[in-house]
Amino acid sequence: MVEQCSTEGCTNPRAYEHSRSRQCLECLARYRRTYYHKNREKQRQQEQLKLFVAMMARLQQYAREKFNAPLVVVYSWPDEKSRGLHGDSAIDQSELVDVIVQMRKLGIELVRVDDLTSGQPTDKITLDVEALLVQTPDRVVLLDTGLGPKVGGVLMQSLGQTGIQPDQVTDILITHAHGDHVGGLVTADGKPAFPHAAIHMSAPEWQWMQSLSNLKPVSDAIGPSVKTFKPGDTVLPGFTSVSLPGHTPGTIGALVALDRSGKFLLASDSVSVRATLDRDIIPRNTWNASALAKSLAEIRRFQQQGVTVLCGHDDAQWQSLGKGADAYD
Ligand SMILES: [Zn+2]
Ligand SMILES: [Zn+2]
Repeated sequence: MVEQCSTEGCTNPRAYEHSRSRQCLECLARYRRTYYHKNREKQRQQEQLKLFVAMMARLQQYAREKFNAPLVVVYSWPDEKSRGLHGDSAIDQSELVDVIVQMRKLGIELVRVDDLTSGQPTDKITLDVEALLVQTPDRVVLLDTGLGPKVGGVLMQSLGQTGIQPDQVTDILITHAHGDHVGGLVTADGKPAFPHAAIHMSAPEWQWMQSLSNLKPVSDAIGPSVKTFKPGDTVLPGFTSVSLPGHTPGTIGALVALDRSGKFLLASDSVSVRATLDRDIIPRNTWNASALAKSLAEIRRFQQQGVTVLCGHDDAQWQSLGKGADAYD
C-alpha cells in the first residue's frame, strides 16, 4: 500500500517509497522553492549591507577631501551593546551589528541616536522659529518674521506682548528667503503685514527669492518695500550684515552691538541649531555645503571674539535667552 504525503491536509501519495522525505512531489517542490527564496533574500541583504559600508567609506573620504572634516554617523539600529531584539527590522540583527563593527574599523565616528536625544522622541522634534526685535532711539527693527499666520506663525501675538503695533515697525531685516523667515511679512490674506516698514534683503537673496514660485505671492506683496544691500554692508546704523552664504545663496547674519549686553551675531539658519557649529554638522537642507563650511568658520571667528551667536531654531538656546522684561539692552 502507498503511503500518504505527510503534509497536513494533503491527500496525495508520498513521492518515492525509498526517499527519506515523506512528502508528495508537489509539496516537495513547494518546500524547495521557499528554501531557495529565503536564501536569495539573505544574499540580497548581505550585498546591500556590503554596499552600504562601501558607500560610508566613500563618504568618509569625500568629507576629508572636500571639507577636511570627519564623517559622523548617527544610527538607530542595534550595536554590540544592544541586547535582545531591537525594533522590527527585516534584516538580521547580527548583520546590522556587523555593519557597525565594520564602520568602526574604518575609523568613522559613530553616535547612537539615543545618546543625542537623551531619550526624547525621535519621530517628532520641537524647533522654535526665532524672530527678533531691536529697538533703537529712532527705529523699531524686526529681524526675520517667522512662518506667517497661515501656517501657525505667532509673530503678531509675540509683538503684541511687547506693546508694539505692526505699523510702528520701521525696518525689517531678512536673513534669508525661507518660508519660516519671510512668511510673517504678509497677513493671512496676503497683504503686507508691516505697512510702514522698509524690508532689507541682500541683493543675491532677493534675486533668488523672486525665482521661487512657492514664495511668489509674498515676493509680489513686498516687492515695492524691498531695499537690497550688498552682503557685508551696514544695513542700518548699528546693524552690520555679515555675508554667510551656504544655507541659501544670499544668507546674511546680522551683527548688532547693544549698549550693555555686548555684541550679538544673529546667525539665523547658518546655524539653525548649536550642533551645526559645535560638531561641524552640515545639515541636509543646505544649498551649498562648501560655502556653508566657510561661513561656519567665519561665525567661529566672531565667537572667538566674544560675540554671542544666536541660532535660527535652537529651542534649548531659546529657552536660555532673556525675553520680555529680561530682554537685552
Ligand atoms: Zn532656512
Ligand atoms: Zn529657518
